[in-house]
Amino acid sequence: MNEILTKVCFKCNEKKQIIEFYKHPQMSLGVVNKCKVCNKLDVKNDYYRKSSDSLWVEKEKERCKEKYYRLNYKEKQKIWDENKPWKKEAILKNLNKKLKIEKGFECHHWSYNTEHFEDVFIIEKKEHKKAHTFLKFNFNTKKFNDLNDNCLYNKTMHFNYLITKGINVKIIS
Ligand SMILES: [Zn+2]
Ligand SMILES: [Zn+2]
Repeated sequence: MNEILTKVCFKCNEKKQIIEFYKHPQMSLGVVNKCKVCNKLDVKNDYYRKSSDSLWVEKEKERCKEKYYRLNYKEKQKIWDENKPWKKEAILKNLNKKLKIEKGFECHHWSYNTEHFEDVFIIEKKEHKKAHTFLKFNFNTKKFNDLNDNCLYNKTMHFNYLITKGINVKIIS
């Protein structure tokens, strides 16, 4: 009664304990036909076979790079969100008050560097949303890039860019 369940691996033909096989609910005895050792060997061989395929290697490199950037970006985003004091409403409200922004209008930053915090554009609420669809935030410069990834590194460039996109912005003087 107490006999240990075994299975013969179809690859190496060895009789092995069930625990030596990966689980698979649809297969007999609930495990795959190939033992773990053979399985690992196959995966390894498959990798070597693919490694000799330069196209696959290139793709794999790209995949890793892309993944790295994605994770890195997420990480930066997190740090950025944590360190973005002006995201906290009180500070933004104070800025609106301080700069005497009319109702229905908002501040728009061309740069989130501390020295530019009050150096903002005045923009209508709904224009503001539209403006941001043409802008990509650059974590390194704390300024914006256009959709072609060119950095809008000063206020004039930022202004001119938004104007060409048909966005109505005002500069406070
Ligand atoms: Zn085997
Ligand atoms: Zn804005």
